[in-house]
Amino acid sequence: MSDAHQFRSFEPPLRMLMGPGPSDVHPRVLQAMARPTIGHLDPAFVDLMDEVKRLLQYAMRTDNPLTFPISAPGSAGMEACLVNLIEPGDTVIVGRNGVFGGRMHSIIERAGGRAIAVDDAWGSPVDPDKVEAALKQHPEASLLAFVHAETSTGALSDAARLAELARAHGCLTVVDAVTSLAGVPLEVDAWGLDAVYSGSQKCMSCAPGLSPVSFSARAVERIQARKTPVQSWFLDLSLVMGYWDGGAKRAYHHTAPVNAIYGLHEALLMVHEEGLEQAWARHQLHHRALAAGLSAMGMRLRVAPEHRLPQLNVVELPAGLDDGATRARLLRDYGLEVGGGLGDLAGKVWRIGLMGTACTRRNVLGCIAAIDDVLRGAAPDAGKGLGVAAALAAYGMSEQP
Ligand SMILES: *Cc1c(COP(=O)(O)O)cnc(C)c1O
Repeated sequence: MSDAHQFRSFEPPLRMLMGPGPSDVHPRVLQAMARPTIGHLDPAFVDLMDEVKRLLQYAMRTDNPLTFPISAPGSAGMEACLVNLIEPGDTVIVGRNGVFGGRMHSIIERAGGRAIAVDDAWGSPVDPDKVEAALKQHPEASLLAFVHAETSTGALSDAARLAELARAHGCLTVVDAVTSLAGVPLEVDAWGLDAVYSGSQKCMSCAPGLSPVSFSARAVERIQARKTPVQSWFLDLSLVMGYWDGGAKRAYHHTAPVNAIYGLHEALLMVHEEGLEQAWARHQLHHRALAAGLSAMGMRLRVAPEHRLPQLNVVELPAGLDDGATRARLLRDYGLEVGGGLGDLAGKVWRIGLMGTACTRRNVLGCIAAIDDVLRGAAPDAGKGLGVAAALAAYGMSEQP
C-alpha cells in the first residue's frame, strides 16, 4: 500500500434518495443507531426486541407471534421464507413479472423445488386468472410465491386475491412485501398471507440491512412438520425461533445487529406515530403530484394507473437520451438519485422512488424541477416549468409538507 494515500473518515455526500431504495433515512433513525451498543441478551435489549415485534405486528397488520427482523437484507428474507417452506421435490407456483419474481424462481430451484413460472409482462401485475389456471393444472403444488410491489417495474399485484386462490387450492403463500410495507396497504392477517418478508430500507425510512418477516400458524405448522432439515443453518427458522421467539429463555443463535435494531425500532415508532393509513395516504398524495408533473413534461408513466405503485414511479425517457450521463448530472448538480431501468428497461426508463421519509412535497417539487432542467433540449416540453406548475395544481389546497 502506498504511503502517499491519506486514509480519512468517510463523509458521505448529501443526497436526496429517490430511487428504488435505499431511501432517505430519517435523522431520528440515524441517531438511534448511534446509541451505545449493549449485549444482545441484555434484559434491556430483550425488552426492545419485544417492542420491535409488537410494532412490526402493527405495521404488517398481523397477530402472528412469529414476526421479527432477519439479520440481513430483503433478499435474505426472501430466501428464509422459501427455504423453510420448500422441501426437495415440492411444486411451487411463482409469479414472474419482474426481477424479484425471477429471483424467487431461482431460489425455489436451488432449494430443490420444482418452480412453475406464471409469467406476466414487466409493468403488469401478476394475473390472477393465470395463477388460477396454474393451480388447477398443478394440484400437487404446495406453495404460491409472488411479489406484492414489483420495484423493478412499478406494478402492484392483488395480494388478497392471489392468496384467496392459493388457499382455495390448498397452497400456502410466500409474499414479497419489501417495497409495499408502509407504502401501500398490506394486510397480512385479513388477506391470509402465510410467509411475508420485507426490507428496512424502502418505505420505512430505515437503513438497509434488516428483513422483517412474519409467519402464519399454518406456515409454522408446515415448518415443524418438515421431513428434511432446512438447507441453510443461518436461515433455519426452527433454530432462529429460539432467539426471537424464545420468551424468557432466549438462546444465543447469532449476534443480533444491535444498533441496526435500535434503528428499526425508531423507524417503526415513527410509522406508528404517523399511523399506517396516514402513511398510505401520504404516498398516494405525493405520487399523484409527481405523476402530474412528469406527464406535463411529456414523460409517460409505464404502468396503468390502477396498478401503479405510488412509492415507485417508472417513467419513460425521451428517445435517444443518454441515461447514464443524465442521471450523473442529477446526482452532481442536485444531489438527486433516481434509479435506472433493469433488464429490458435499462436505458429506457427511470424509477423514481417516493418512499417513507423521502415522500414529501419538497422532494416532489425539487425532483420535478431538477428533471425539467436536465431534460432541457432532450424533451420538447422540458425546461419550461410545466412540471412544477402541474404538480402544484395537483396539490391544490393541500398543505402537506
Ligand atoms: C429491494 C427489494 C428486494 C431485495 O431487498 P435487498 O434488501 O436489496 O436484499 C426484494 N424484493 C423487492 C420487491 C425489492 O424491492
